[in-house]
This record gives sequence, structure tokens and C-alpha cells, in this order.
Amino acid sequence: MNYKSTRGKINNLTFTEAVMMGLADDGGLLIPDHIPKADDCLSEWRNYSFTELSLAVMSQFIEDDIPRADLESIIQNSYKNFDHSEITPVVPIGKVLILELFHGPTFAFKDVALQFLGNLFEYLLKKLERKLTVIGATSGDTGSAAIYGLRGRKNVSVFMLHPKGRVSPIQERQMTTVLDENIHNLAVEGTFDDAQEIIKSLFNELEFKQEYQLGAVNSINWARVLAQIVYYFYAYFKVQSDSSQPVNFSVPTGNFGDVLAGYYAKKMGLPIDKLIVATNQNDILHRFFGEGHYHKNIVRPSWSPSMDIQVSSNFERYLYYLADQDADQMVSWMDSFQQSGKLTLSGEVLKQAQSEMLSTSVSESETLETIKNYHQKYQYLLDPHTAVGVKAAEAFDSNHPTICLATAHPAKFGQAVKSAINSEPQLPPGLAALKDLETRCQVIPATKEAVRNIIVQTLK
Ligand SMILES: *Cc1c(COP(=O)(O)O)cnc(C)c1O
Repeated sequence: MNYKSTRGKINNLTFTEAVMMGLADDGGLLIPDHIPKADDCLSEWRNYSFTELSLAVMSQFIEDDIPRADLESIIQNSYKNFDHSEITPVVPIGKVLILELFHGPTFAFKDVALQFLGNLFEYLLKKLERKLTVIGATSGDTGSAAIYGLRGRKNVSVFMLHPKGRVSPIQERQMTTVLDENIHNLAVEGTFDDAQEIIKSLFNELEFKQEYQLGAVNSINWARVLAQIVYYFYAYFKVQSDSSQPVNFSVPTGNFGDVLAGYYAKKMGLPIDKLIVATNQNDILHRFFGEGHYHKNIVRPSWSPSMDIQVSSNFERYLYYLADQDADQMVSWMDSFQQSGKLTLSGEVLKQAQSEMLSTSVSESETLETIKNYHQKYQYLLDPHTAVGVKAAEAFDSNHPTICLATAHPAKFGQAVKSAINSEPQLPPGLAALKDLETRCQVIPATKEAVRNIIVQTLK
């Protein structure tokens, strides 16, 4: 299996090269050169444990680029820190099925991919005899999941920026209580956008990027999408005992990474009827699937902050399939989007998109109401992101079961829960313990120079 860029200038990469490159050097996103078919594997795979299934699914995309026994041990190490024996259990609640993806060390679904990516990086860096400096900016969830995925890893250093005083206290503690030597938390005196801008401009300093082997762990990395394909299969087998019967998935969406993984599962032959793209009030994706308008807007902060995005960084991968894998078409679409902040599709292409995905935008009050309803009716507490997906699922009539992806533990978003039900959610022991732990974090001005200096001093 080889990897290629959606913009056509990068081709014939191995899986390893694709993972190490992250963003394609031509500005596109890396994707497999074909999608393997799994129709004939379904009856065998349905009896697999989560880790066995991970090995089966991932090896289709990796083949012999990593020896099977090595891949197996990477996977086993990745899921040993989950607090549920099934890793991603499915729980029926009312009319929907909740796929709980928050049993990892940071209580959010990003652990499923980032625990894997951390182990994978360590393995590949050793083999390639090189080092990696991961830099990133976070408004919460990604930072802690990346830090937990990479803490203590050999040959990896992490510099994670967050806007000082602007992430939730729990999220801040999740990051700053990690004292491993290779983890460096930097609290920037500015906003998330300032921090993000610093990271972008450091990546643009090509000499610096090369010398310090800068890398990113955001969801454009193919390995993250790959790890997420697995739980679509896993949940399907839990819900349908007959492999010819379809299910729907409702996916709370920001950067489109999670729902894209579902799209790949469907393309592989998993019987998925509808994928529901559930956005909050930052609804660029809903406007696209509704009217073909992929138009940039300002971000409005919401109760589900991990989905507060302007553009969806993984959407280009889906567009590539809509463009019928025509890289020239992609370049022209992405150029015009770059210039005007607008991409408008219509006709057959839009119809195709609408036949594959449904979408909804869920308001702030609907989000809180949904949390409240599920708490009252079923004594089940949804986090605000999950509530967006559940509300979206309720909006569609279907004869098939609908599985809603639960992307975070409600205790991570206590303020939203409190606003919905008038009391704070109970903290799981792992989160409660954070308040007594020692922290390490440097406060710095919001300048590129300050960040660069710290990287240089630390790694010298
Ligand atoms: C990141 C995140 C999302 C959005 O996932 P995407 O892959 O960016 O669409 C949803 N919920 C939570 C809790 C998240 O952390």
C-alpha cells in the first residue's frame, strides 16, 4: 500500500514516510492510494477483541511496512491504559446507542488515536535513528491527549502552547501535571489564535524546522485517522449480529477527522447507511452538506469548544473523493478557497455528498437541553460534544440503529453540565486526583522568539 497527496505532487510514499511527513510537502493531505475491501472479512472480524480488530484493520493499510508482530505490540501498548476492558464499549441509552470513546487516560476520544501515534512514533524513530520535536497549540483536548500519548517517549520532545488562563482548569491541570522530562508546557500570554499563529510561523522557518526536526500531531496525520477507523467496525459488530444489516453513525464534528474515519470504514465495505455530520453553531460543514457552501466564518465560542473551528483541516481528504480523485481539480478548489475563503459546489458533486452524509447544526440551547433530557430520562450524563451528536441523531428518522459517538467524559466539561442540570458532574478518580499533583509550566510572552528560544535552550 502506498500513500499519495490530494494535490498530486507527492506519490509512492510508504506508510512510514506518510506518518513522518504529516502534512504533505505539496500542501495537500496524504491518503492511501486505494481503499482496501473488507467485505469478506466481516464474519471473521466480528469475533475479534478491540486490539485484534485494530491489528486486522490497520494491517490492511500498512501491509509489510511494519512487521505484523511489531504492529501487534504497538497496538497492545496503545490500549493497555484504557479503563474499560472493551476499550470502546457501546451502551444503549433510550433510542440511541452510545459508543463511549472516552475511556483513555485523558477522558476524550483523541486518546484512541494519540496513544497509538505515540507508540508508533517511538517505534519508527528508533528504526529511522532520528529525533522529533513536536510543537503544537491547544485550546484543551488535543494538548492533553498529545502529551499523554508522547510522555516519556524516547527521541521525542514536546512543546505544547496553551493560552494562559483560557483553558478549563481541569484541562490545564491535565497538561501541567505531566512532569516527564520530554514534556514542556508553555502558557502563552495571549489567545489560542496567537499561540496557533506562533506554531504556524515556526513551521514556516524551514531551516529551523529541519534543524530541530519539527513535527505535528494534529489530526491531519494519517495514522490518527487510521486508528479511528477501528471503532466503527467494533461498534458495528456489537450492534448488528447480521453482517448484512446497516447502521447509522452520528458524529460530533470539528476538523472532520472522526467522521472521515467512518467514511473510510464505509468505503471498506462496512454496512453504514448514513453518516450524520453533527456540528455546533460553528456550522461550516452543515452549510456545505446543506447548500454546497464551504464558506469560512468567524468562530463563535460554544459549549462544545473542541468543535469550535473555522475550517475543517481533514475535509480536503473527503473533497478529494468528491473530486473523483482528480488532483488538478483539488488544486483549483483549494486555491480558490485559499484566496476567497469560499468554496461552492453544486450539481452532481453536491448530490453525491448529500447522498453520503446527513448534517445538522445544533444550537447552544439544544445542546444543554439534550444533556438535561438524557440525565432526567435515562440518568445518563452526556458531555456537550456528545450531546450535539445525540441531538443530531434524534432529528433523523431511520429504520436502522443509530450509534452516537461519545467523544468526551462529561466531567471534562463541568461548566456546561452544571448549566444544563444545575449540578456539577462527579469527577472520576483520575481527574479528581489532579488537584493535588505538582505542576510544571513556563509562562511566556506571545511571541515566536520566546518559543524559539525555549526550544533552542532546552534541546541544546
Ligand atoms: C476533537 C474533538 C471533537 C471533534 O473531532 P474532529 O475529529 O476534529 O471532528 C469532538 N469532541 C471532542 C471532545 C473532541 O476533543
